[in-house]
Amino acid sequence: MFSKNRTKESTGSCSEQIERLQASLETADAIVIGAGAGLSTSAGLTYSGERFERYFSDFHQKYGITDIYSGGFYPFATLEEYWAWWSRHIFYNRYVDAPLPVYQELLALVKDKDYFVLTTNVDHQFQRAGFDKSRLFYTQGDYGLWQCSKACHNKTYDNEAEVRQMLAQQQNTKIPSELIPRCPVCGAPMTMNLRCDDTFVQDRGWYAASERYANFLRHHKQGKVLFLELGVGNNTPGIIKYPFWRYTMENPDAIYVCINHGQAYAPLEIAERSICLNADIAFVLSELQSKPVCERCLSPVSPCSCDSFKGL
Ligand SMILES: [Zn+2]
Repeated sequence: MFSKNRTKESTGSCSEQIERLQASLETADAIVIGAGAGLSTSAGLTYSGERFERYFSDFHQKYGITDIYSGGFYPFATLEEYWAWWSRHIFYNRYVDAPLPVYQELLALVKDKDYFVLTTNVDHQFQRAGFDKSRLFYTQGDYGLWQCSKACHNKTYDNEAEVRQMLAQQQNTKIPSELIPRCPVCGAPMTMNLRCDDTFVQDRGWYAASERYANFLRHHKQGKVLFLELGVGNNTPGIIKYPFWRYTMENPDAIYVCINHGQAYAPLEIAERSICLNADIAFVLSELQSKPVCERCLSPVSPCSCDSFKGL
């Protein structure tokens, strides 16, 4: 559908792109946010380095695990160890606020607009920051929900109380055996409600959010719609990136925005209506909040200092 030649945005400085984005945000009738892992990374929820060592150094020493992401795939020999890992994994990525106020700054930009959020993130940060729950669709699950590992019934379960208990009672990378969660219907172990295979449970809440998102898109097939893609990588482009390109192509008044450090591009077919920022999302959002602009023409008073601007 799209040409293989992608245009990397190098024709304008970062300052100019931010200026265009600011003007587009102000005039948009509707904003569709598509958020991937890069948004949470930008908010400080990093999965490696200092943050990993702070919470998981014992798992590093005992099992050789070097980051939170790969630890989620480690074949622990016992459910006691598995849940010691996962209760920490869930808690520090779901039940704590992100270190930086990136989600709050994003909300400040769109809260008075007609907006909707589609996200592959499972860390609940949109809700923690105060986004309207009825305007969110978590398509890939939520760390805060469990389901039956055999998917024997179509229901998910809030896990906060159990996760806190596991966290408080674990010793030597093991939880007490009596805390291992079991399916109330079939007795199989519970597991995270994350889309990693065909046992992912889509409960009533999931279908309701999916329907609200579809309705929002139907209602905004025309007009000044801003598709704002934030930190979406190339792992699952079929969920956010490719549909956003298609919707932008189908609506001549739509604008596609891609903010991603290292991977900001758009297909040639919509290049003229695209704003690509090869920059840190936190930086761009803070620029949008604070950038002093000319009241008449919206031009920034001073240029920003992001990587792409420095390169020009
Ligand atoms: Zn079951």
